[in-house]
Formats: sequence, structure tokens, C-alpha cells
Amino acid sequence: MRRPLREPVARTYASSLPVVPVRARGLTIEGADGRRYLDCLSGGGSLALGHNHPVVLEAIGKVLDSGAPLHVMDLATPVEDAFVAELFATLPPAFAARARVRFCGPTGADAVAAAQKLVRRATGRSGLLTFTGADHGAPEGARAASGAGDARATRLPYPQDYRCPFGVGGPEGAELAARWTESVLDDAGPGALPAGLVVEPVQGEGGVIPAPDAWLRRLREITEARAIPLIADEVQTGVGRTGAFWAVEHSGVVPDVMVLSKAVGGSLPLAVVVHREDLGTGEPGARAGAFRGNQLAMAAGAATLAHVRRHRLAERAAALGTRMLARLRALAADQPQIGEVRGRGLMIGVELVDPDGAGAAASAGPPPPAPRLAAAVQRACLDRGLIVDLGGRRSGVVRLLPPLTLTDDQADAVLDRLSEALTCVLA
Ligand code: PMP
Repeated sequence: MRRPLREPVARTYASSLPVVPVRARGLTIEGADGRRYLDCLSGGGSLALGHNHPVVLEAIGKVLDSGAPLHVMDLATPVEDAFVAELFATLPPAFAARARVRFCGPTGADAVAAAQKLVRRATGRSGLLTFTGADHGAPEGARAASGAGDARATRLPYPQDYRCPFGVGGPEGAELAARWTESVLDDAGPGALPAGLVVEPVQGEGGVIPAPDAWLRRLREITEARAIPLIADEVQTGVGRTGAFWAVEHSGVVPDVMVLSKAVGGSLPLAVVVHREDLGTGEPGARAGAFRGNQLAMAAGAATLAHVRRHRLAERAAALGTRMLARLRALAADQPQIGEVRGRGLMIGVELVDPDGAGAAASAGPPPPAPRLAAAVQRACLDRGLIVDLGGRRSGVVRLLPPLTLTDDQADAVLDRLSEALTCVLA
């Protein structure tokens, strides 16, 4: 079917997927051609409850029916109060006890930029230190600032077992990554320290790489010792996705700042920064994004947070994730083109590699990523009615971000289709 009005729209994402969604519910999207797809892209992880969940629709409907304003900037409203109360009910208590929330946005990148601004003011320093493979959605805002020899210009190693930058993996690789960070900061000296250090507890766009809990605790020690605010970017990992309500809870780390977006808006655009109160309360007029007062998003977000909390969907995500990873790992065992299956909760990645690729045999490390293979698997999934995402170094990782409302049968259906696609492409 010809896509109406498609040509004028520049698409950088999912652009080759010939799906014209006209209806959606839960895991399922229905195309204009009547075909149904299982959506494991979930708006990049924005749809914790899937499409058009009744509690979200009801919350939005209530605001619309009430005659309340749809958008008010910085004025307290009952809708905002309810969102803040629900957000604080979910935050780790040690963090919530001394936290303030500021609305910004509406995107995750805006929230990262707002967090950067906050820690700049608080520390009088500039630049955010980031990690290799990180995606904070703000290529300029969240990238290191100055020139060579300055800690702020450096990307620090993010530990991972499969492509360990030190070639050792495991706890040893994570400890080397921590020491690298220490040495960069110590070499820089106090004059060139960054304003903050921002980390994803599980890298999403970077290829679904869970940070080891022990390494996150080391980062906490390292930053605390140098009075560098630690910013947890939970834009993608938040709201139950990784098997804890917030991914920092796995390690017990209490960050100074949390950056939240995507699922906190219950499928509508919303972004917030939650921070230690002594980092500042913000001056009037500080740039934070005109659409920071989106009442529908706050209502949808509050309903989503409440539903995930009441129905213990984080625990459900943990159990489902373990089951799905086990089945995918069994499939990968005799498939040399699947380099690694990894994830945490319902953030799942399957890395495709080229075992015969240039340099694969010569180097002791893993084979090179196979982006074409990954794209072929994505396509084969679509042919079987399954929408998946790609990510990772050179887009070699097939990513699944299903809603937390996934049933056991739906999980099986997703895995049946993915397994079939993998078997077909890798045959
Ligand atoms: N942080 C993380 C961890 C993300 O995954 C993303 C988007 N994928 C962003 C920030 C940016 O969010 P947005 O696309 O809403 O700007």
C-alpha cells in the first residue's frame, strides 16, 4: 500500500518499516492494511504500559473533561501535585528524602541539558563527563567541553564483558574501568574537573549493556570523594523496565541527580530532573523548555507510575526478562553469528557478529559487529509481524523493549517470531 504523505516527512528512525499504524492497544499495532504487529520498540521504551492502556486513557480523559488547562508553565496545579506525589512514592527513599523535582523538557535531551545547567551552577564548573557508547540525546549539551588534557573532553570507559575495552571483562574489567576514571580525574586536577558525571545504569542505544552494580558503586565513591555530582540518566531504564522501579536501585547507589523522561510521561512528552535539594532550586527564567507544564502528560505519567507500582510490574519485568534471556541464550548457543545475548529486565539485546569478518581471527577479542545481519533480522522480524529496534556499536544489536504489561503468551509469541527470524537469516 502506498504511504500517504510519507515523502515530505524526513525520517531517521524506523524509516524503512512499511507500517502505517492506525490503531494500537497494548503490545499490538494495527496497520492500515489490517496487519497486526507486536511492537517491541515501544516508542524507544516510552510505553511502559504499552499502547493506549485504559488507565492512561482514563487519566487523560479526566483532565480533558474537567476543563483544566492543558498547559500551564510553572504554576502548581492539582494535576502536577498528583504527579509529584506519585513520583516521590516511587523514588528510592534515601534519594527522595532530600530531593527536589523540576519540570523541563519535553524531551529526554532537554532534561539532560537541564541537569547539566543545574550542576554547572552548583559547582561553578562546566562540562559533563560521559562514557563510551553513551546516548543522552544531547550531542552538544552532554558532551565534554574543552580541549586535550582536560578531563571534560574525555569519554570514560563503560565496562562490558563482551567488548571489554581492557580485554578482560568481568569484575576485573569493571575495576579497571573505575581506575581509569579515577586516573583521568586525578590527572586533570581540580581546575579541570567536570561539573558532573552522567551515566546510564543500562546503556540502551549503546547496545543494551547493563552496568555492573559494583562499578556503579565505585563511581559513587569516586565522585563523592571529589564532590562531583553523579547524574543517573534513567530516561530509558526508569519506571520498572530493568526489573527495579529505578535501575539505580539494583546497585543501591544514591545519585545526586536523576534525569527522567520517556515512560514517566505515560506515552506523552514529559521530562523531569530530580536532584539533591542543596544543588539549588533554580532561578526564575532559567531555560527549561516551554512545554514543561504539559498537564495531560503529567496525568498520564502519574497513572502509569501508580499502575507500575501497584501491580509490581518491575518485578514482573525482572521475571519475564530472565525467562526471555534464557530462551534466547539457548538459541544463541550453537549460533556463532550471535555474539552475545544480554539485558536486564525488559531491556534485551542480541548482538549479531561476523565470525569471519576482517580481523576476527587475528584478534583475541570478539568478532566484529554485523550491522547488515542485524538489519536483515529486523526486516525478517517485521515480515513476521514483530517490530524491533537496532542499536549498539555500528547498529549490530537487535533490541527489544516490550511493554511491562507483556503476558507470558505474548512473550512466547515475540520470542517465536524473533527465533524464526534469526534462524531464517542466519541459516
Ligand atoms: N537518555 C537516554 C538514556 C536515552 O535513551 C535517550 C533517548 N533514546 C535520551 C536520553 C534522549 O531522549 P529524547 O530522545 O527524548 O531526547
